Amino acid sequence: MSCGHCDWVFCLSRTFNKEFWNYAILISGMLRQGMPVPQVVDVVANLNLYDSTLNTWKNGVVRALSRYIPDGTQALGRKCPECGDAEGLYYEEGCLKCRSCGGTKCG
Ligand SMILES: [Zn+2]
Repeated sequence: MSCGHCDWVFCLSRTFNKEFWNYAILISGMLRQGMPVPQVVDVVANLNLYDSTLNTWKNGVVRALSRYIPDGTQALGRKCPECGDAEGLYYEEGCLKCRSCGGTKCG
């Protein structure tokens, strides 16, 4: 995905706020180093942001990245919040789903 001349992660951060910029650089650096998308999503989702604008941006990035995770990819290192199954979670249509209990978590 790209929008013209710019890197797509940068496109998500429409505001040229310094904080957004720093995180955009961090995320696009991880992707360039070939870190698997599910792992990048995990890192981004676990960022502790104090600012609600940054949190909104972060959630947008997580949603956008999740769409690039192939359906059926197992979510490693995550536990199902519903049934506690550590191996039951997988990605489908950008959401996390659980094989064991059928629970779904989006975004
Ligand atoms: Zn479950």
